[in-house]
Parts: sequence; C-alpha cells; structure tokens
Amino acid sequence: MSYQLLKADTLFYQRFLTANGFSTKGMDGIWGKNTSAADAAFVQHGQSIAQQYGKFDDRSEGNIITLVPKAQVLARQFLKILVDAGNDVRIISATRTYAEQDALYSQGRNGNTQPRVTNAKGGQSNHNFGLAWDIGLFINGKYITDDKKYTPLANLVKPQLPNLEWGGDWVSFPDIPHFQHKALVDAVANVRALFEQGKAYV
Ligand SMILES: [Zn+2]
Repeated sequence: MSYQLLKADTLFYQRFLTANGFSTKGMDGIWGKNTSAADAAFVQHGQSIAQQYGKFDDRSEGNIITLVPKAQVLARQFLKILVDAGNDVRIISATRTYAEQDALYSQGRNGNTQPRVTNAKGGQSNHNFGLAWDIGLFINGKYITDDKKYTPLANLVKPQLPNLEWGGDWVSFPDIPHFQHKALVDAVANVRALFEQGKAYV
C-alpha cells in the first residue's frame, strides 16, 4: 500500500500514529487538526530517518514510509547491508490496513480462483501494524521467485540486526520473502490489542 492509502483509513492511521508516539489526541476516525499535526510529525521523522540511514530505489522508498519509525530504521539498515553486498533487493510490500489484508485473504477463497497468498485476515498479520515488509530479489532486472536464492540474504542480515525476524524461520508457515521488526509482545493478538488501544508495541 502507499502512504496515501494509509492516510485514507483515518481510524487505522490514528491508531498507527498514536501507538508510535505521534498523538492524535483521540482515535475517533475523524481527520482533524490533531491528526494533521501527528501526520506531519510522522512524515518529518521519516525524512530524518532517511537522511540518517540512506535512501533506496523508489519502490522501496514508497513502502518504507508506511512502516512505523523503528521498522523504518531497521528496514533501511537491512537494505543497506544487502545493497552494499551487491544485491538488487527491493521492498515490494509493507504496511496494509485491515481492509487491504481482508481483500488479500479473500484471494483463493469463497469461489475466488486466484492462488491463496495469506492465511491472515485483517488484524492478524504484522503487516497490519507497520512492523513487516516483503522483499523481491532481482537479477539482471528480473524478479526472482526461487526461495533458495533468498535464504543467503536472510543469513547475511540476521546476525547483524538483532531486532530482525525472518518469516523463513517460521516452522508452520515459512514465509521466505518476509521480514519484520520484533514486537514488545509475542503473539500477534497481543500486538493487535496494543495497536488498537494506541499503546506502544515496538
Ligand atoms: Zn510478509
């Protein structure tokens, strides 16, 4: 999703801002001056993170700015390690609102004939809290789908970034292109509860 879409779901964005230290002075789903001020502070903070940690390709940039600040820092450190090592890696997806996650979940279900892409409904994925991103590896400009090519990338970054978690380490549903910032609490349901109350979860 884009930053514009993030902003379009006001209640979702108010939770996102408030839980990450940009108070909207209430989470009522109505865009007012306090939400505007929190939005401006969030955008400015993201720009200072980019200045400090480096900028990348346009697609990655468009996705990184939908992450919460701590995940923005980690995603930039992550990309720098991979790009410096000569890899064309781009962040191809990051934050999704609950509505977007529900739309993704419906793929391959209830008569929809597209392949299934997720087992998470809205509010059940770390993509819904600005913590997670998915990468694409490109070789000679071509998008690589072979999982085996992604494992060395994860092995390169993981020892250097202690707050990084890799979907490839999940036993039940390995998700090779997926990376995320470790949350303060374990289960996604607990992250969700904090997010919806506007309380810190990362
Ligand atoms: Zn993912």
